[in-house]
Amino acid sequence: MTPPRNSSATRDIATAMHPYTDARAHEANGPMIITRGEGVRVWDDQGRSYIDTVAGLWCAALGFSNERLVQAATAQMRKLPFYHAFTSKSHEPLIDLSEMLVERAPVPMSKAFFCNSGSEANDTAVKMIWYYNNAVGRPQKKKIISRVKGYHGVTVASASLTGLPANHKLFDLPIAGVFHTTTPHYYHEGRPGESEEEFATRCASDLEELILREGPETVAAMFMEPVMGAGGVIVPPKTYYEKIQAVLKKYDVLIVADEVICGFGRTGEYWGCTTFGIEPDILTCAKALSSSFLPISGVLVNDKVYQGLADGSHTIGTFGHGYTYSGHPVSAAVAVETLKIYDEMDIVGHVKKVAPLMQAGIQKLASHPLVGDARGVGLIGAIELVEDKAAKKNFDPARKIAARAQKLCEAEGLIMRILPGDGIAFSPPLVINEEEVALMMNGVTNALDKLA
Ligand code: PLP
Repeated sequence: MTPPRNSSATRDIATAMHPYTDARAHEANGPMIITRGEGVRVWDDQGRSYIDTVAGLWCAALGFSNERLVQAATAQMRKLPFYHAFTSKSHEPLIDLSEMLVERAPVPMSKAFFCNSGSEANDTAVKMIWYYNNAVGRPQKKKIISRVKGYHGVTVASASLTGLPANHKLFDLPIAGVFHTTTPHYYHEGRPGESEEEFATRCASDLEELILREGPETVAAMFMEPVMGAGGVIVPPKTYYEKIQAVLKKYDVLIVADEVICGFGRTGEYWGCTTFGIEPDILTCAKALSSSFLPISGVLVNDKVYQGLADGSHTIGTFGHGYTYSGHPVSAAVAVETLKIYDEMDIVGHVKKVAPLMQAGIQKLASHPLVGDARGVGLIGAIELVEDKAAKKNFDPARKIAARAQKLCEAEGLIMRILPGDGIAFSPPLVINEEEVALMMNGVTNALDKLA
């Protein structure tokens, strides 16, 4: 249906280009315009309300309204709306936030560095790894490993780490020196007769083969999301991280945990690293760091990495990296307040209380004729729609089955997110309550029943 002339939709089509959107389809169909939010719900310009079952983009942890965050931002804007952190300048919100992150880190971390997005945090981590290895005298150790279907962002380096075709095709990516190893997704990648444990062992030996093929003296780091989010909400088998970390430590390969989605309670612990026993040298975080009220991301480095970076910067006379808005005072003040709220409400305790209801609902959907795999941990999960459950065969993409499910969910008052391979994600605001979880699961069940 063509939107009326001069409507917001027509104006949007005329001048806005949207991220992650088929521009031609957008020209034909127009936008969904969201006008306000409250709690776990948002409203569109037709006055319809929706539970946002992925918290925007896995990020609005405290939902779409919070007066304390509004107050923290406005108070900081009145006091000091901007100052930078270059050349030893600092301010209280940056100091407070660094301290809070280092104190809360899942393993001992030495320093926090700030950026504006998850992509920038991962890009910064890549540059730190290169800089570090140059500074400690091993300039040949630069290659970086991530995983097929991993998601680490969209800057040139972070999109290269991302292991999804849509982020590479037509962009001439990935850049040289980035390699993708096996996706730890037992449902699709496990072989007939192979146990989950055996599959985890095979993932680790695939990784070791890759490192040996490239030469361990050339492999610098591996990036990993504890739960792979945008690539499909993939929860690795139990012994996977123990096995791959043993390989990485054997060849002196740095471990980078991308906690952009998993951090701050999502997996039922404060960090995904804690849920899965990951011991990173570098940790990146964003999204729930400020509950998405303002853009901010962080890179935490352990002392080994910090010492190399510090020595390098001293030799050159500066650490030649940083953004105008690294540690922006208003964003940092909002992040500090966000972390205080998480402490006061016991965010991890809340997720532990509510998550079993969501996971039970997801497992119940596993018996639906259209659902092949149902997976998750904490308040993150997914179902995967299949044409043939026994053969784990996906639908012909031309049938756009997940997009049709998404439309039916909208009619049930739910904004859902589609994942590659006809997956549907669940990653609601962490403040969701039991009643809202039940509404979400019932809505999805009704939508799937209509699709069947
Ligand atoms: N890393 C992970 C795990 C993500 O899920 C995302 C975004 O979804 C990013 C990095 C990139 O973050 P941003 O979109 O803020 O650049």
